[in-house]
Amino acid sequence: MARYTDAVCRLCRREGTKLFLKGQRCYTDKCPMSSRRGKRSGQPGMHQAGRRKESEYGMQLRAKQRTKRFYGVLESQFRKTYNRAERMPGKTGENLLSLLELRMDNVVYRLGLAESRAMARQLVTHGHFTLNGGRMDIPSAELKVGDEIQVKENSRKLAPFTELAARQVPGWLSFNEESLKGSVLSVPTREEIDVEVEETLIVELYSR
Ligand code: SF4
Repeated sequence: MARYTDAVCRLCRREGTKLFLKGQRCYTDKCPMSSRRGKRSGQPGMHQAGRRKESEYGMQLRAKQRTKRFYGVLESQFRKTYNRAERMPGKTGENLLSLLELRMDNVVYRLGLAESRAMARQLVTHGHFTLNGGRMDIPSAELKVGDEIQVKENSRKLAPFTELAARQVPGWLSFNEESLKGSVLSVPTREEIDVEVEETLIVELYSR
């Protein structure tokens, strides 16, 4: 399946929430989901009147799609991550979100080294980072506590790294702007993950 790249704002409208797919624009008033009209209707671009109540299955499916789109993960990879989450101790839904947060591309985005997860994915694929001192160009690589990622020496003068995205680095990560090095301090808890989704619905969907 090809990655959806066209008119990404439509995906946010479809999901009724901000998915942060367009970089800095998502944090400004130019975001259609932040517009007065958007705030008024709750789901801009969608007709509220006459919408049918969603079925249980529909809500579960939406929760899965919303999460998948938020992280920019394709179905097969999402399912693999879910299977891993299911085998881990603790709550499967929360494990799933933690694993998605610990993806290399997401960590690059969270550190402010890319404007969007899509850009982070591209930067990782193009080999601009090291993981614990060695080359790492796999966006789906799962980071562990103590792992360190750093922008490669010869990439530091490139535009994304000279003007870092103004973003608050979450508490489970640390970042040094001088050395452009970040590390994973802990596994993110549900409270530290800002995706607006009821993850139990995803568990219900896959348990059918
Ligand atoms: Fe578009 Fe970003 Fe706003 Fe989503 S959050 S509607 S991608 S500008």
